[in-house]
Amino acid sequence: MSDLPQIVIHQKKVDAIQRFHPWIFSGAIKRQDAGITEGAMVEVYSEAGQFLALGYFLSGSIAVKILSFQPVTALRQLIFDRLRAAYTLRETLGLTQSSITNCYRLVNSEGDQLPGLILDWYNGTIVLQAHAIGIYQQREVIVAGLVAIYGDKLQAVYDKSAITLGKKSSLQTTDGYLYGGRAEPRVIEYGHAFIVDWEAGQKTGFFLDQRENRRQLAQFVGDKKVLNTFSYSGGFSVYAIAAGARCVHSVDSSAKAIAELEANLQLNSAPKSQHQSFTQDVFSFFRTCGSDYDVIVLDPPAFAKSLPARHQAMQAYKRLNLQAITKLKPGGILFTFSCSQVVGVEHFTGAVTAAAIAAGRQTRILHQLTQPADHPTSIYHPEGRYLKGLVLAVE
Ligand code: SAH
Repeated sequence: MSDLPQIVIHQKKVDAIQRFHPWIFSGAIKRQDAGITEGAMVEVYSEAGQFLALGYFLSGSIAVKILSFQPVTALRQLIFDRLRAAYTLRETLGLTQSSITNCYRLVNSEGDQLPGLILDWYNGTIVLQAHAIGIYQQREVIVAGLVAIYGDKLQAVYDKSAITLGKKSSLQTTDGYLYGGRAEPRVIEYGHAFIVDWEAGQKTGFFLDQRENRRQLAQFVGDKKVLNTFSYSGGFSVYAIAAGARCVHSVDSSAKAIAELEANLQLNSAPKSQHQSFTQDVFSFFRTCGSDYDVIVLDPPAFAKSLPARHQAMQAYKRLNLQAITKLKPGGILFTFSCSQVVGVEHFTGAVTAAAIAAGRQTRILHQLTQPADHPTSIYHPEGRYLKGLVLAVE
């Protein structure tokens, strides 16, 4: 595709690209063709004229996100191939043909060599979230590729990029169906039913990244009193009740999330007497709730969205985990998570350790949790690993 604009990078920056890091920072650029605009596809060369990558251009500190480290003759074919490879991986994982789970992440951005693109499959509907104009501009090709893969099984593709693009670019888009129309918003995950509001819900409608961790919770809750904080539409609560929890309390500050949670509990025939919801700020809930929980789930939103915000986020993780630990009965179990990309495993473990020290409770790590295999990350791109969790036994 040699008619594309070209960027030449400093020789000393060539190594990082040859090690497959999928981003090129603006400081690495030695020279570039005139008039390259946000979202444009570009080819990247070394000073010696060696082809290094094809990607799309961004105007911030990350100047290029890479789609291919090999020369590309046809972009459409490349995108088709990437989508097919993403599908094949989910097939290998047993997700595309499962009788108990019909929702999964089909494309996880850099982890599937399609930077900036999220595609979540919800039983026939795919929700597309583009985080950059460069990939958004390929949406028609993406839809054609999805139709080629799924055939009749694909009922709809819903574009939900207005919020993810809006934050970073001048491009104003409107959410809507790129293919098909509104379909039954019901999915199953490990046999549990959920209504997923991809049009008005948070992110793409459901937190698919917690699937394996929700399943992990099931083994700890039989006949127990469980508190699920930051519950959203009730993923952990539904699993807990199905696994025999005696009583589940769910807390979320969003009234819409709590309404969805209640609908989801009903859908799964959860007995009303075993569940109570609280539309409340979690920090304020902790000030008044009892201290007799056997199991607590803490799954807050990302407290830090950037490095400068990390210190404050660490304090918030510490405070929150301290509150939770003090609300656990002796022998209790804490499922604690962070989805802040800038807070690494070491930092997060440090904050939780500080909370355990402050609580003065003997605490052991039973499991270290992360994002599931349908949220893969390139080994060369640690920035893609965002979800971390600990299962703790607190004496
Ligand atoms: N555990 C959920 C996902 C959690 S997403 C699942 O498995 O699906 C984070 C949730 O925290 C959102 O629903 C958001 O509404 C809620 N939230 C954010 N800040 C909050 C606060 N201070 N108190 C209570 N809920 C909060």
